[in-house]
Amino acid sequence: MKKNDYFLHFLISHAKNYGFIYPSSEIYGGLNAIYDYGQYGVDLKNNIKEYWWKSMTQLHDNIVGLDSSILMHSNIWKASGHIKKFYDLLIDNKDSKKRYRPDILIKEFLLKNNYPKKEKILFRLNHLLKKNDLVGIRLLIKELNILDPKCKSNNWSDVHLFNMMFKISEKNEKDVLFLRPETAQGIFSNFSHVKQSSRMKIPFGIAQIGKSFRKEIIARQFLFRMREFEQMEMQFFIFPKEEKKWYTYWKKFRLKWHLELNLGEKNYQLQDHRQLAHYASAGTDIEFHFPFGFKELEGIHCRRDFDLKRHENFSNKKIRVFKEFQSYIPYVIETSLGVDRLFLAIFSSSLKKEKLKNGNYRIILKIPNYLSPIKAAIFPLVLKNGLPEIAKKIFNEIKIDYKLIYDKNPSIGKLYRRQDAIGTPLCFTIDYDTITTNTVTMRYRDSMKQKRIPIKKISNFIEKETGMKKILKKLSNYI
Ligand code: ATP
Repeated sequence: MKKNDYFLHFLISHAKNYGFIYPSSEIYGGLNAIYDYGQYGVDLKNNIKEYWWKSMTQLHDNIVGLDSSILMHSNIWKASGHIKKFYDLLIDNKDSKKRYRPDILIKEFLLKNNYPKKEKILFRLNHLLKKNDLVGIRLLIKELNILDPKCKSNNWSDVHLFNMMFKISEKNEKDVLFLRPETAQGIFSNFSHVKQSSRMKIPFGIAQIGKSFRKEIIARQFLFRMREFEQMEMQFFIFPKEEKKWYTYWKKFRLKWHLELNLGEKNYQLQDHRQLAHYASAGTDIEFHFPFGFKELEGIHCRRDFDLKRHENFSNKKIRVFKEFQSYIPYVIETSLGVDRLFLAIFSSSLKKEKLKNGNYRIILKIPNYLSPIKAAIFPLVLKNGLPEIAKKIFNEIKIDYKLIYDKNPSIGKLYRRQDAIGTPLCFTIDYDTITTNTVTMRYRDSMKQKRIPIKKISNFIEKETGMKKILKKLSNYI
């Protein structure tokens, strides 16, 4: 097994064994590219969403929130272009019966084989994609003699297109509904409501977090490409002539936001789009170094007035703002980030195997403290002499403010290892000295250093070490 494959395998089993991510419906054989979040996964995910939500809707006083429905009128998808244009390419291998995205097949082939004329081939591929030349794409696969990565056969089908939206009702044409493939259209279709009720003036933004669904060709990249996933999207409505200014601002701010997570500056790169989506006039991806290489984490797009204009035409309702006695349709800068992709970025870059001084290893999840599912663990050193009662009393007082764990496993070493593996930044041990001095031992996850602190200061320490305030304060300086 290659090093990267080995790491991904290790990461997936760690996520499952420690209650972060489970494969969905596993008792019935599982479902491809669908995952469930376990007890720690859901808290880590909620903390990620809180960091985004507060940064966007709390630090920016010109952005408001929205939670629109997943099911929407099918005309929304006609207007947005998803019914006509939200297609992916597909090729089947007739021997392995596996399906692939031909563009990804070609790109991965070039990357794996360090192909000498890589740039030339990529240029050709982009040209073929632009022209929608399906025959040409198949010929390119044949010409490069690309084999099925699983069964090494070159017995390929034709390349075809398929719509990526899940249709959920087709009794008759009028009743067709789709599971939304992006949250953005809920924002556009509510633009007039939000503007009116919030009394926001251009420039202002609408942010929302919610589930999206796409019929992805399964790429087996864990949370990276799912068929049901969550997005954190923000549409920022602007004066058309300020497009460049706001595009630059959002590119910068979003990158800063990621860098503040402290996952390593070298893990990020910006990639301007060569091939633009049907709605976009410019676009950049913030790419992250996942276990399988640099891939898109967040997209920032100039959508111009594409969406609002289309909704105006399709709905026959004016969607406009007024300035100096003139009405116009605002332009839009979009920032779009996948919650699950960010979860994977954080999880994969934080999971480490560390060698200890005594030669043993520990598995540690060095996630940013303010995102950790459990902020602190509280243990009694022994299960007698009233220590469990003191520990439980401290736990009951502090749990009102922070998510804690109380554990009375008799082996303190095992307790520390388990907390390291789920990313708990602080552990507090109640021992015999606690009875006489009202102090406890505090142990840091990352340095494993220990010190004694008074019981009455535990809460302050947890806030200082794990609170989100510090990072939000820092971010607010960039706004
Ligand atoms: P890709 O090219 O990787 O398919 P995309 O360009 O189609 O991504 P967008 O439509 O711009 O993605 O969606 C915005 C964000 O939503 C992405 O940057 C990503 O973080 C997330 N996202 C998109 N598709 C998926 C998916 N299938 N699974 C998990 N997250 C996704």
